[in-house]
Amino acid sequence: MVQPYRHEPFTDFTVKENAKAMEEAISQVKKELGQDYPLIIGGERIYTDNKIVSFNPAKKDEVVGNVSKADKELAEKAMQVADETFQWWRKSTAQMRADILFRAAAIVRRRKHEFSAWIIHEGGKPWKEADADIAEGIDFLEYYGRQMLEIDKGKEIVSRPIENNRFGYIPLGVGLVVSPWNFLFAIMCGTAVSPMVTGNTVLLKPASATPVIAYKLMEVLEEAGMPAGVINYIPGSGSEIGDYLVEHPRTRFISFTGSRDVGTSIYEKAAKVQPGQKWLKRVVAEMGGKDTMIVDSDSDLELAAESIMNSAFGFQGQKCSACSRAVVHEDVYDEVLERVTELTKEIDLGNTTEKNYFMSAVVDKGAYDKIMGYIDTGKNEGRLVHGGKGDDSKGYFIEPTIFADVDPKATIMQEEIFGPVVAFTKAKDFNEALDIANNTDYGLTGAVITNNRNHIEMAKEDFHVGNLYFNRGCTAAIVGYHPFGGFNMSGTDSKAGGPDYLYNFMQGKTYSEML
Ligand code: NAD
Repeated sequence: MVQPYRHEPFTDFTVKENAKAMEEAISQVKKELGQDYPLIIGGERIYTDNKIVSFNPAKKDEVVGNVSKADKELAEKAMQVADETFQWWRKSTAQMRADILFRAAAIVRRRKHEFSAWIIHEGGKPWKEADADIAEGIDFLEYYGRQMLEIDKGKEIVSRPIENNRFGYIPLGVGLVVSPWNFLFAIMCGTAVSPMVTGNTVLLKPASATPVIAYKLMEVLEEAGMPAGVINYIPGSGSEIGDYLVEHPRTRFISFTGSRDVGTSIYEKAAKVQPGQKWLKRVVAEMGGKDTMIVDSDSDLELAAESIMNSAFGFQGQKCSACSRAVVHEDVYDEVLERVTELTKEIDLGNTTEKNYFMSAVVDKGAYDKIMGYIDTGKNEGRLVHGGKGDDSKGYFIEPTIFADVDPKATIMQEEIFGPVVAFTKAKDFNEALDIANNTDYGLTGAVITNNRNHIEMAKEDFHVGNLYFNRGCTAAIVGYHPFGGFNMSGTDSKAGGPDYLYNFMQGKTYSEML
């Protein structure tokens, strides 16, 4: 019997021994930077001349690793291996597959700070955020293992005296998993192992900015007993191998997490039935957000300010759930804005591979330029209250930035910025606050700070987001506690870390035998 699921506890780095352990892990990882990593196809290590160079966003001349890059030919090889492997893997027992996940969780847990140190380097994560990212990956392993065992029990259906009926789930086939760089361990791990534990085989294409940590997970899964060919590691260009595999007739499903633009184009390409294709591809596409926190007139204003600051600037605002819009009741607007500004002034910013700063750099030059562009736009759309400057001389650093008095329809209120920028707008009452909150194309997360029970009920009915939180920030969903996924252009609402998630990668089969 497995222990009941509970989430992995977070590390408190104000405790000296914990901080010391992390410093040691960072020094150890520093010694291992700059190595070459191969692809893994059917267990075989394949080195290519063409490499993806992964670097530290906070110190751009520091190379984290040189990772081999798959081309179409290697993508095709991986597809064939995954297809062949599926023929027997689909018959493996749920218990065996779950046990691989449980063992992998134990291995990562034992090496937690080392894994955090890798993603501090590769993702520019602050320590607390890195620790939470690794904890979430462990949670996915533990939770999906248990969910698979539950699903394996089947579901009750009715039989008659003349027949014996049974209903259960079987896997789909070969799936393409395309993961983002922002939860470089957790989402990559969760999206790779969920189809695997359900009996599918996987082509894992991690984000090009963060392929090294994905290689580390592959090593762990192999150590935990995952057979060759079950998950194949094929970093490569989205437009080259991504498109090739999305359109491949043997691809049975695609699990994508990333931007709206890429997600919608995958959805469209996957819909086209290719010559030789025998099914309709299933697509899970979890995409962007434009997440709002509402502050009511009757509310704990200190809680509101702290929650906005943490949700807007944690991990440099590079979370799909990040608070990028604060909609505040006019009676408390000035006070909340002032307090958020005060708290933001205390934020320290720097290379987190040197020290435990609250914020580090944004992921790369593309992100830096895009965010700085939105800050320029913001200067015409609102009042710059704090921040606004960037420095990309050593790494891609951007100050935490606050704009006030922004029109709800303004660009910085509508488009996903994916950086440390929050825009404030004033609402005359709670109804207007809800209208503003709902006026984007997205619907991922939202939060309401209020002491008014009626307003809580109103928000439950009318605040149209997949993850709605009360009296807390809008980030930090926990596997098994807050199933995660959004409405509208935020995606297919697959609810990662929830009790229904694994069904995305399975199909129901009815068996009826005459007696
Ligand atoms: P992105 O869309 O640029 O890239 C995501 C992945 O898609 C990468 O692995 C990339 O290489 C790949 N890709 C690019 N073009 C492709 C193509 N044509 N075919 C196949 N794959 C292709 O996103 P990103 O910058 O890595 O991540 C940030 C985005 O992800 C933000 O919009 C954020 O909101 C979103 N996100 C959403 C969730 C969620 O659960 N809803 C979670 C994390 C991040």
